[in-house]
Amino acid sequence: MTHVIKRLTAAQLVDLPEWYRYCRHPHGRGALCDERTAFTTHQQYVTGRAGRVTWRVTYVCELHARRFAMLHLIELPAAE
Ligand SMILES: [Zn+2]
Repeated sequence: MTHVIKRLTAAQLVDLPEWYRYCRHPHGRGALCDERTAFTTHQQYVTGRAGRVTWRVTYVCELHARRFAMLHLIELPAAE
């Protein structure tokens, strides 16, 4: 399955709804990360028996984007 990371542009960050402005990555013990969002991670997964492939998009902070990149052996996009 494919994994992609995209860096959010300044314009995109301004337009983000409140919920997406902070990383909601679980920190353990039910706590959420709450750092500022800087990237989106895109993860392909197969839904149901029909085998349709869908993208799961998650808004994450720099730290969690780095962890995602390391885990899936992909590059973090450089700053513009
Ligand atoms: Zn985070």
